[in-house]
Amino acid sequence: MTHLSIQDILPLVEMPSQYIGSEVNAIKKDPKTVELFIALAFPDLYTIGTSHFGLQILYQLLNHEKTIAAERVYAPDTDMESRLRIAGLPLTSLESARPLAQFDIIGFSLLYELNYTNILTILDLAGIPFFAKDRYLSFPLIIAGGPCTCNPEPVADFFDAMVIGDGESVILEMANCWRAWKQGGGNDKTLLLKSWRNIEGVYVPSFFEPTYTAEGFQTLVPQYPDYQQVLRAIIPSLDDAPFPEKPVVPYGRPVHDRLRLEVSRGCTRGCRFCQAGMIYRPVRERSVHTLMQQAENALASTGYDELSLLSLSTSDFGCMPELMARLIARCAPEHIAVSLPSFRAGTLTPELMTQIKQIRKTGFTIAPEAGSQRLRNVINKNITQEDIASTVHDAFSLGWQVIKLYFMIGLPTETDEDLSAIVDMVLELRKLKLHKTKGMKGHKNQINVSVNTFIPKPHTPFQWAPQLAVEESQKKIHWLKEKLNYSDVQFKWQNPRVGILEGLWARGDRRLANLLVAAWKNGCRLDGWSDHFDASKWEKSLEETGIDIAFYTTRVRDLSEPLPWDHIYARVTKPFLISEWERAVQQESTPDCRSGDCQSCGVCDFQTIEPRVFAASEIHGSEIQVESPIPTRTDVLRYRISYAKTGPARVFGHLELANIMFRAFRRAKIPVEFSVGFHPKPKISFDDPLPVGMESLHETCVVSARPVFSTSEMMDRLNQALPEGLTVTRWEISSSKKEYIACKDISYAIQLKTGVFEQHRLESFRAGESFVKPRVRKGAMSLVNYSEHVHRLELDGVDSLLLTIRSGQNQTIRPSEILSAIFDLSEDTIKTARIVKLAPALQIPK
Ligand code: SF4
Repeated sequence: MTHLSIQDILPLVEMPSQYIGSEVNAIKKDPKTVELFIALAFPDLYTIGTSHFGLQILYQLLNHEKTIAAERVYAPDTDMESRLRIAGLPLTSLESARPLAQFDIIGFSLLYELNYTNILTILDLAGIPFFAKDRYLSFPLIIAGGPCTCNPEPVADFFDAMVIGDGESVILEMANCWRAWKQGGGNDKTLLLKSWRNIEGVYVPSFFEPTYTAEGFQTLVPQYPDYQQVLRAIIPSLDDAPFPEKPVVPYGRPVHDRLRLEVSRGCTRGCRFCQAGMIYRPVRERSVHTLMQQAENALASTGYDELSLLSLSTSDFGCMPELMARLIARCAPEHIAVSLPSFRAGTLTPELMTQIKQIRKTGFTIAPEAGSQRLRNVINKNITQEDIASTVHDAFSLGWQVIKLYFMIGLPTETDEDLSAIVDMVLELRKLKLHKTKGMKGHKNQINVSVNTFIPKPHTPFQWAPQLAVEESQKKIHWLKEKLNYSDVQFKWQNPRVGILEGLWARGDRRLANLLVAAWKNGCRLDGWSDHFDASKWEKSLEETGIDIAFYTTRVRDLSEPLPWDHIYARVTKPFLISEWERAVQQESTPDCRSGDCQSCGVCDFQTIEPRVFAASEIHGSEIQVESPIPTRTDVLRYRISYAKTGPARVFGHLELANIMFRAFRRAKIPVEFSVGFHPKPKISFDDPLPVGMESLHETCVVSARPVFSTSEMMDRLNQALPEGLTVTRWEISSSKKEYIACKDISYAIQLKTGVFEQHRLESFRAGESFVKPRVRKGAMSLVNYSEHVHRLELDGVDSLLLTIRSGQNQTIRPSEILSAIFDLSEDTIKTARIVKLAPALQIPK
């Protein structure tokens, strides 16, 4: 029996394109030129992981080095996991299909605590022991970075080293240490870890020994006197920081399917619950000039038709009206949408509103967080009811139809009145909506209310606060749900059982490592996905390991209590956090230091590290002039394009293919014509969809475009822009006279990867005049006479055949149905078979 490869099992899993790794801007290096192989592992599905901006930065930064190959791997979905296990295949990287165990370093991005079991899935499928102490030199070094490492303790035992803070400032230094260590023999892991510990931001967990007090509090004993605390790594100037100008363009439907421009890092609004607002300080903006240049290069390299701005607080960006004006001027002529992810209430200026009118209206999000002014003062969310009301009013007026409101329950000092205030606020905002839509036919404005249970996070002023128990959360959510039961209010909430686990991992210590292993062994997978999350498996695992979840989550912590993350210095001082906690109780607000007085949080040294905010006066008109790359001519021609879809491209679904093609046209700078109307669409139409998994030597599409290049140049340009497996074979002006007509009988070359074609079945098919069998499609059964459909069927050995399906029948029959009916092959055998639709004979009509 043939052994299946990962490529062979792709047709057996959902969304197979997530595993092929041939995306535009994916980097494949000749292994002979590489000294250091690094796998960048994202412990969640491709659709989430490819949207992570930090991974894109590291990918380009590392691959920029000639002798380093950085490749990607994402957590496989459960169907792929079980297929890999059945086939006995290890998990491999996307770019070169290199087994993970053969990499020198695997670096995980830790963004969400509920992803932790996926780390173990990835390690297990790679055949790598979970615990660092069990990994000898023959295994890769396992490292991690990302916001979750600001309390690394719950997963510290699994990693050789962890990066705290801005990874791009650290990773190349770590790579250099690795190279020096390797050149020195590379036979003592401790030597490497010792050199890594000298890099700012690097935490080596094995250099800190945990002990526990009588009350059960973890304290860490440093093993080296010069290594007692780990300082967060920080990039002083974002304007000089690397930006991925050639980001990998994912297949399928990633959560962020657009180009993202990181306009700033850090937020100093000072919301007391917000971890990101503390651990990314201070505010560092990019200049408009830099952003325009980066947008220009990245649009050219990706072909995206949407661009969005990325930051913790987009509307706080100092030169937002100027940036928006330039982006819209650049993007609008090419039908590239500019979108804004969220707005802080009270920051919409009339100038910005005018610009926003021109952009695509996706959801409009506001996060009041709390319903009452009292509680907003406690959390230092310095926005008023009036700010919120006027922003919602403006948003409805500007054409948004859906407003999303985010609230938290269980915030410190919350009372029943605070909860009622959420209801009052939503009902007030509803009145604005009703007022706006009065008499406006067709407008279905809606308010989406999303409620999460507050989770106290490390390095915030609320890190000592208790979290609501699951039952209390449920009670409050139930009450809100009843009070907000209106057809135009959609109420969503986070499962409190998920929230309490997130809280457990956020403030846990090293004793949780065994819980993670137990949960993984009990079958916990992809816990961040509601369709996978199974609370009963977690309860069983908690019971087995004797972990008291209340100890970590719902109890009040004393300010003097040692915290598991005390050795991680995120640069915001503990006295500042304590004073903010005290001010919270007093309902005192703390102003933003962005452009005002320093609040002494401890982050800035005002020599290299300080807030970096640009003023509009620093923008010079001549600097941001960007010429439209597409020459303009008015005549438009219709072209018929023939192309082959083979190899990895066989797994693209129809919509996916259309997206890939359209972006390739953009990268090739071929100006495709758009339809007119409210939502202009590119004028490209495709043949009937090919089943996913089938290859074809001849598919066609028709496109309307301006002839700025000759047809042969357009063909060359498009071929250079297409991913592996898609090749344009013919490009001609489409007119009824000259159009080629394909012979309708279609032939297929079929090769089995498993199983055989049995000669006697072919003979019994040929023996009779008819061969009638039932067929079930979409739950309905019909009888099919396969003899009428098969024009030609010839075996070539035991695993290959040539099939021609006759045209002109009143039913359409797929090759897979013929294989099943005549040869009685299993579904898996048919799905893994290589089926190639051959090019038809072409004739010119007389
Ligand atoms: S040190 Fe001062 S200026 Fe710097 S982030 Fe903290 S409060 Fe802001």
